[in-house]
Amino acid sequence: MKRHPLAALLICAIFPTLIMTASAQSSERLHRPATAHDAAPAPLHKWAVVLHGGAGVIERSSMSPEAEKQYRDGLNQAITAAGDVLNKGGSAMDAVEAAIEVMEDNPLFNAGRGAVFAANGTNQMDAAIMDGATMRAGAVADVQYTKNPIALARAVMEKTQFVMLSGTGADEFSLQAGLQQERRSYFFTERRWQSLVQELRKENLPIPLRPVGVPPPPPGQLSFFESPDNHKYGTVGVVALDQHGNVAAGTSTGGLTAKRWDRIGDSPIIGAGTYASNESCAVSGTGIGEYFIRYTVTRTICALVQYRHMRLQAAADEVIQKQLAPIHGDGGVIAITPDGQIAWSFNTPGMFRAKLREDGKPEIAIYHDEP
Ligand code: ASP
Repeated sequence: MKRHPLAALLICAIFPTLIMTASAQSSERLHRPATAHDAAPAPLHKWAVVLHGGAGVIERSSMSPEAEKQYRDGLNQAITAAGDVLNKGGSAMDAVEAAIEVMEDNPLFNAGRGAVFAANGTNQMDAAIMDGATMRAGAVADVQYTKNPIALARAVMEKTQFVMLSGTGADEFSLQAGLQQERRSYFFTERRWQSLVQELRKENLPIPLRPVGVPPPPPGQLSFFESPDNHKYGTVGVVALDQHGNVAAGTSTGGLTAKRWDRIGDSPIIGAGTYASNESCAVSGTGIGEYFIRYTVTRTICALVQYRHMRLQAAADEVIQKQLAPIHGDGGVIAITPDGQIAWSFNTPGMFRAKLREDGKPEIAIYHDEP
């Protein structure tokens, strides 16, 4: 159809804003090639993720270059796994789970494979995950056969009406949920075993038999992978902010070497070792769990952000440096807020840690004097 030139003028006079908007959009398109995402609404938030692989007596003098490289590689792998999820628009929950599973599968960290031993020679693992968007949470304590306890914690959240399961009941639920199970020998590492032996000797306690199916102790000089681990707190934890503005936190651990009587630490306790709320922040802790439980460390940090309107770093320092350090509550935290603040704070000589933002590269650190 042919239109009279005056008709076009009339339309311009009546709908100037329409014309302006349309031309602004088309001029933007001139500078940006069309992509598959053009139809989707622009993300409102830049994503970010922070993780820890445990805090403790981690010093340059006691770490060989080989060991240091292994740890840095392991942290890099985990943060990259989380970054990949977030970059594709995945949820903070999925990012937390992905990164924790990488560290649970890495025998260097005290979680999943590589978990420390309890005094009776078993691996008793704890884990928790919390979704800041819904305040839903799942946790497990003292589980012994699940390859990835963080996946079990998430299954508790998603498939049951409960928050926390423990011991044989949690192992039974894990089977029913179809999660991968492993024999005791899968979780065995020589250096964690040697740490147990050392600790039990110190405490004058009997040394249990080596688990069935594990190799005999290596003869001669022990390598880095076999020598006792004095870093003590190798728990892993991740906090993430996704493109939808939601935060989540997760923590997974074997607990403390030579723990007794089915002791449960802070990691699976919501508000102690793990907490997330879109109203304030997401935090994961590592350290001597008994202090983190009594000082409700992760919830307290978020309460300072929520009610005292403190900046995240100041809130984390308030609890870790001012409250815990003077009473020898050794440990640290990583934290993130829905508005993109990230923080870490620890009162030990080191903490394995890493962070990554949407527009940056992974930043990995171990010692106190690193940024
Ligand atoms: N917090 C953990 C616990 O007490 C240990 C750790 O962080 O390494 O079980």
